[in-house]
Amino acid sequence: MKFVPKKKPIYGESKDSLEAYLAEIKQPKFRAKQILDWLYKKRAFSWDEMTNLPQALREKLSEEFEITPSKRIFDKASADNTEKLLLELGDGSLIETVVIRAPQTGVGQENSRKTICISTQVGCAYGCKFCASGLAGWKRDLSTGEIVSQLIQVCHLEDSTTQRAKEEIASFDNIVVMGMGEPMANYKNLLPALRILNADWGLNFGARRITVSTSGLVPRIIELANEPEQFRLAISLHGATNEVRNQIMPVNKHYPLEELIPAIKKYTEAKSRMVTLEFILIEEINDTLDQSEKLIDIALDLGAHVNLIPYNKVEGLEWKRPSITRQDVFYNALKKAGVSVTIRREKGHDIAAACGQLKLKTEKAQAEAEGAAV
Ligand code: SF4
Repeated sequence: MKFVPKKKPIYGESKDSLEAYLAEIKQPKFRAKQILDWLYKKRAFSWDEMTNLPQALREKLSEEFEITPSKRIFDKASADNTEKLLLELGDGSLIETVVIRAPQTGVGQENSRKTICISTQVGCAYGCKFCASGLAGWKRDLSTGEIVSQLIQVCHLEDSTTQRAKEEIASFDNIVVMGMGEPMANYKNLLPALRILNADWGLNFGARRITVSTSGLVPRIIELANEPEQFRLAISLHGATNEVRNQIMPVNKHYPLEELIPAIKKYTEAKSRMVTLEFILIEEINDTLDQSEKLIDIALDLGAHVNLIPYNKVEGLEWKRPSITRQDVFYNALKKAGVSVTIRREKGHDIAAACGQLKLKTEKAQAEAEGAAV
């Protein structure tokens, strides 16, 4: 399904495309820089705030471009400082953006602060068995502007909750493209969005602090490897043999490990950076000795980092989270073999932080409310 908004989202424009538009309407080139400064540095909410632009130009821009492609329905904070923003798009679709504010500390655990997790599609067609986003299927791709606007929403939230003066860059440390949707399936809108986040006229956010996570779309991994930017790559591996991965990730039937692993190798070589292998530990499914041995071989061969994530219960899905003892046995086996490994004791349980869960709950509540109203 393709959603065609009445106006183009301004956050989908690059400096070049904005300059071309301004040339068309006989405006000087420097206006593009002024507009972009208002959007990304001063984080204006409306065209009226752009006081150094002539009134006629502001009116023209407001007719042509949408400055608020997403609306914040609510944000929900968790006790452990994970926060979820539920955003409504122009067609009423809901997407999620997650802010992980607190440091994660402890032996072998990640130590990242203020990570923003963004979505790239409404729903998802890939149907990974542990994931709530795949349950309702794919609805549509997000536009470039809708992807970028999630970060702007977070900036606005931060601006309103801190004393920081505007004209500062966003204060988060990492962006992970790991929310709802398979980013690589929306590559044509994803890449321009990442470039806007990265550009000095945009959010000026370093490519090495942006991670794209994929279920393993081999042709797109190779395409991204050939791009000049140094974006980081994370692979949702979750199974160290085709037999086990097929049970968890239907995409493995299209791109099995014998195709996926060489593509990851190509990415690692092209960027000279370690790729991360995400591995959700599911009791008796992939937390066995055999899987740990195969995973060790893969990780050492690729020189990859492994991030273990104990399974987070999803409503409507079976499977269990392994006990702490089983988690530790798996983790220690990798560690002992010399694999770079962390274990992420999932944050945000109390606000349904696994991708797609808050959206599902909200839609269910909306459907129930509508049903009750009939
Ligand atoms: S894990 Fe990612 S690719 Fe898999 S179903 Fe969920 S959103 Fe889609």
